[in-house]
Amino acid sequence: MESREELTSVLRNKGFRLTPQREKILDIFYTLPEGEHLSAEDLQNILRRENSDISLATSYRTLKLLASLGVLRELAFAEDHKHYELVRFESGVQHQHIICVECGSTEEFTCVEVFQTAVEIAQSHEFELIDAQLKLFGRCKRCQDKTSNLPV
Ligand SMILES: [Zn+2]
Ligand SMILES: [Zn+2]
Repeated sequence: MESREELTSVLRNKGFRLTPQREKILDIFYTLPEGEHLSAEDLQNILRRENSDISLATSYRTLKLLASLGVLRELAFAEDHKHYELVRFESGVQHQHIICVECGSTEEFTCVEVFQTAVEIAQSHEFELIDAQLKLFGRCKRCQDKTSNLPV
């Protein structure tokens, strides 16, 4: 998703209005530093800080809606709660995530082959592709170093 205008037209084409609440939530995602992912609770904290009266229920609904429209990406890094980020393409490719099971940190990477394979599979099933996610789980460098430095 490149611009606000494009986004508005995605919503409109599917019969949704860009309500002030939806706009506010999108604004927050647009101003997030790259590589940041928000849970509904994170979003709620930001909204509260900005004195917005959008309820947690509305946030949840809006996040789900925007994900189903392919505007936001729904990410399940851990079993407890979901995170969201804007759908964005770096030179035509969506990024993927590698997740540390120990500290929960995530890093992003792009892999052209993963994305192309997803597009081909979707095509062969006559699916309109909304998202393709490959999640890798492991232990980050920091956590590995921590363990190896433990006194024996
Ligand atoms: Zn990401
Ligand atoms: Zn770690």
